[in-house]
Amino acid sequence: MNADLHCHSFVSDGTLAPDALAARAKANGVELWALTDHDELGGQDAARAAAHAIGLPYLAGVEISVTFADTTVHIVGLGVDSDDATLRKGLAATRGGREARAREMASELAKVGINGAFEGALQYVGNPDLISRTHFARHLVESGVCSDTHEVFRRFLIEGKPGFVPHRWATLKDAVSWIADAGGIAVVAHPARYKFSPNAEYALFSEFKAHGGRGVEVVTGSHTAAEAVRYAVTAREFDLLASRGSDFHSPDESRIDLGGLPPLPAGLKPVWEALTERIAA
Ligand code: AMP
Ligand code: MN
Ligand code: MN
Ligand code: MN
Repeated sequence: MNADLHCHSFVSDGTLAPDALAARAKANGVELWALTDHDELGGQDAARAAAHAIGLPYLAGVEISVTFADTTVHIVGLGVDSDDATLRKGLAATRGGREARAREMASELAKVGINGAFEGALQYVGNPDLISRTHFARHLVESGVCSDTHEVFRRFLIEGKPGFVPHRWATLKDAVSWIADAGGIAVVAHPARYKFSPNAEYALFSEFKAHGGRGVEVVTGSHTAAEAVRYAVTAREFDLLASRGSDFHSPDESRIDLGGLPPLPAGLKPVWEALTERIAA
């Protein structure tokens, strides 16, 4: 099954509208799709309606920013009720500090000679509640400071670099509970990205499971083939359902297009088999 259960629209830090993503997913052969904007459900109605109109099975989704062991970890929720009041309230609180953080990022960037970055980043923002590092990256590329967004992150936006501002997101327990209570399945997104020590990673998966988390992204646009094999082992060890998602953001920036991932390694339990009742046909 060509399931693609992780991507972003301009309601968070993608560049396309939810209906354009639905069309692109369908054209690329996706058979089950989820839009998973960061900390935001504002694109869900449009995504579900667009998927329905073109006969593309759909799961409501979200990607929640979490702080775990002083590191930002992303938890994807699949099959959630996108009208769930507690989930919506939790997400509103999670995205609440973004504007202040962005203003601070801009003043840090000004100290290294990059002026007007807040106003610049805002030009790329589709949702004023969701200004993110990605929007700063697009502005610094368009204004000629860097040649691509990866270079912006490497030079300015990651820990230890001049435009990085630490931020406290949701707790792991809250994010997993909001998702489960909204009828969905919580999934650890792109685990290879966090660079945890083996002990810290063990703690992440143990606590995630203890809070009711049930899945892990094994095949994602952020994993190499070797990392997919490694997290297939993790899925078996922790008895987690396996997910698959491109993490597509933009035709100009994303390495992997919607529907363009390899299949899940054999012998895993696909997360979508546990979500059949949550799929909108
Ligand atoms: P934020 O939620 O504002 O901290 O922004 C996080 C987003 O930045 C992620 O969801 C990615 O879309 C993007 N991102 C993070 N690291 C990188 C990187 N090294 N290169 C390109 N994009 C990145
Ligand atoms: Mn993103
Ligand atoms: Mn992520
Ligand atoms: Mn993502």
